[in-house]
Amino acid sequence: MSSRLWTDNFHDFLVDRDQERCIQCLVCVRQCPYEANIYREAADVVDSVHKNCTGCHRCEALCPTRCITIRLNPSELRPHATWTSRNVKNVYKQARTGGVLLTATGCELDYPTYFDNILIDACQVTNPSIDPLREPMELRTYIGRKPERLEMETGEDGRVRLKTEIAPQLTCEVPILFSAMSYGAVNLNFCEALAISATGTGTYWNTGEGGLHKKLYPYGARTVVQCASGRFGVSKTYLETSAAIEIKVGQGAKPGIGGHLPGEKVNRDISETRMIPIGSDAISPAPHHDIYSIEDLRQLIFALKEATDYEKPVFVKIAAVHNSAAIASGIARAGADAIVIDGFRGGTGAAPTMIRDNVGIPLELAIASVDDLLRSQGIRNEISLIAGGGIRNSADVVKIIALGADAAYIGTAAKVAVGCTVCQRCYTGKCPWGITTNDPTLSKRLNVEIAAEQLTNLIDGWAHEIKEMMGLMGINAIESLRGNRERLRGVGLTDRELNILGLKHAGE
Ligand code: SF4
Ligand code: SF4
Ligand code: SF4
Repeated sequence: MSSRLWTDNFHDFLVDRDQERCIQCLVCVRQCPYEANIYREAADVVDSVHKNCTGCHRCEALCPTRCITIRLNPSELRPHATWTSRNVKNVYKQARTGGVLLTATGCELDYPTYFDNILIDACQVTNPSIDPLREPMELRTYIGRKPERLEMETGEDGRVRLKTEIAPQLTCEVPILFSAMSYGAVNLNFCEALAISATGTGTYWNTGEGGLHKKLYPYGARTVVQCASGRFGVSKTYLETSAAIEIKVGQGAKPGIGGHLPGEKVNRDISETRMIPIGSDAISPAPHHDIYSIEDLRQLIFALKEATDYEKPVFVKIAAVHNSAAIASGIARAGADAIVIDGFRGGTGAAPTMIRDNVGIPLELAIASVDDLLRSQGIRNEISLIAGGGIRNSADVVKIIALGADAAYIGTAAKVAVGCTVCQRCYTGKCPWGITTNDPTLSKRLNVEIAAEQLTNLIDGWAHEIKEMMGLMGINAIESLRGNRERLRGVGLTDRELNILGLKHAGE
């Protein structure tokens, strides 16, 4: 019992309150879902329970007198290269709970972020840049299988027509899509905001594995629906309503393991959408129990195509792992229209900390090696490549496309656009910003129209910056950027890393 008390005192945050400026409006008390701000009636004072604070900054943002400051607790355990505070505190937590350590929203460890060691080359004098304010810049991206060559024919009326049959394509007005975030893990307000923004900006959002709520069916033409190992919410109507179908094999934050939405989160709406009983745990198995080979995967790809009259592209999503390139080649040959590679920095609503921090590989290396192998095998045109997991800004989008992707998926950036402060506590179901919660009161904190506008602003801002960067590279169409590694240079990387990325060092 005593250990419970003293380990609690080694908390991560301090909630500092200037009592002189506090007007006791109790906004912070009402806004904190973790009871880290409390009103002590006997003493008539608003007080802080530091150990409960997750560092979400909600109270700091809304305090009318600006008298709260959330700080990292400067009290540190003795520095130790092996037994860092993080390792010690993790042992404390498990000694207390006996459970798996959980986390969310991306790996914060100091692994190399290759994006930060890659620079974009610019045109000067002999190879003039292009002014995007004066010249047309084409960001439109088609996701889907492309023919090796186009054949034309002349009809009886003398008109020349395309003879080659083109596989179904998604038309993205920007090379950015919203990545899979499932209803249940996030709430309906956020799903609706994503759907509205995707529709307005001419891109796509993704249901994740939680099914498609009936209210969102009108956005079907801009919706990628997921078919994951739990098959939650998968029906003929669900598939037919979509623009594309994504088979989720793995995700970057937790490669090789399944998912778990606790029964207490499965309310009436979520149970209807996922097609499971109210209050039952939604457990996605680690593998698809009908997929143990590329041939099995091919059967599912074609079952989904058959179910939708071959009208929708089928994606396959895998986590970035050491043999992603070989797997991607198999996926292309299995008949998929797009591969999604999700890097180890990818976010999620809940992941075991040890898996998130120790499994998978960086997105940049995976995309470069997948693009290389598909090109060397002469099948790059047969499949589109979508990169997700750790895309933070428009420069990351430009770099990942130049490394070989067709488009980028963004998830955490979309959450941040609507208020997420990356406190990494999505798994508690008490998101203070109303995003990863289905609590009716907390969910109201996310206004659909405002959130949709913020998402749209983000996409518009990034699109503008991508055009600027393409212009300075002397490129006027996203098609010419894809796999154009000549326009990138590495800094501070080893020869081996440069070799895998397919880049020259800066100065070369
Ligand atoms: S929100 Fe600010 S002013 Fe209001 S009670 Fe909390 S600390 Fe005091
Ligand atoms: S958890 Fe969030 S709302 Fe609560 S005290 Fe900490 S920063 Fe403020
Ligand atoms: S979505 Fe909410 S709970 Fe999750 S990291 Fe962001 S602010 Fe925290």
